[in-house]
Amino acid sequence: PGRWSLQGKKALVTGGTLGIGRSVVEELVALGATVYTCSWEEEELDQRLKEWEARGVPVTGSVCDVSVQDQRERLILDVSSHFGGKLDILVNNAGIAIRKSAMEHSLEEYSLLMATNLESAYHLCLLAHPLLKASGSGSIVFISSIAGVVALFSGPIYGMTKASLNQLAKNLACEWAKDKIRINSVGPGYISTSLTEQIFSDKELKDNIVRRTPIGRVGEPDDISSMVAFLCMPGSSYITGQTILVDGGMTINGFY
Ligand code: NDP
Repeated sequence: PGRWSLQGKKALVTGGTLGIGRSVVEELVALGATVYTCSWEEEELDQRLKEWEARGVPVTGSVCDVSVQDQRERLILDVSSHFGGKLDILVNNAGIAIRKSAMEHSLEEYSLLMATNLESAYHLCLLAHPLLKASGSGSIVFISSIAGVVALFSGPIYGMTKASLNQLAKNLACEWAKDKIRINSVGPGYISTSLTEQIFSDKELKDNIVRRTPIGRVGEPDDISSMVAFLCMPGSSYITGQTILVDGGMTINGFY
């Protein structure tokens, strides 16, 4: 397979039914990969799998709440038997946002955000490590956020989970380079998905976001999936431990 291809690659993408995850699934498939995905809502997942099947898109999936360890273990067992004990690509995409200020957050919300956005990714990496190592050239991508690099009104806990993913990519990159596994983090800016529906329905807020974005528009899921796909290709074989922001330039804008 060429430098710019994912032909023959086996991939697991968490939260692939909607938004950015769905776009990643379809991008990887378009470039030649076979994809396994999960989401926590059976109905949503079944509907998406049927749509893909009808379009001849090779995607398999099962229900998994990535915030729960025994469900993560079950998922990796299923992925392992589906792909014969090997995995080339793990995209940790599933995540939630609870937009509140520090003093408004409950203890339960703290735990839920940490478990869903951070613990899920950490433990899935560990569980998938033997499969990624067995493939001989693994790539892990975290879907982080610009909220893990600058302070946004998405709230401190959300930002903390995303900043931790960026750090996790650095540590794992150093630990697992010997196993031929690369680990990178992609930090989207404001992207049009169900996660941002509420923000974008506030016209003033959306205009403000667009005004501060040099590219002059909000992002679409396929602005992100192209970067994810690149980080999974042989063409990016010297890139590891990086946090790459895909935000239309928002975070480099000082005073324009
Ligand atoms: P969506 O809400 O559109 O999609 C989220 C996906 O994750 C869905 O498929 C959902 O499944 C799944 N999911 C959520 N929680 C769990 C769980 N506990 N177990 C399994 N699956 C779960 O959001 P986005 O596409 O916008 O978000 C994807 C990622 O991108 C998130 O990590 C988010 O933080 C990040 N991000 C998004 C930005 C944006 O502007 N949209 C900006 C920066 C980062 P189901 O359909 O079953 O609910």
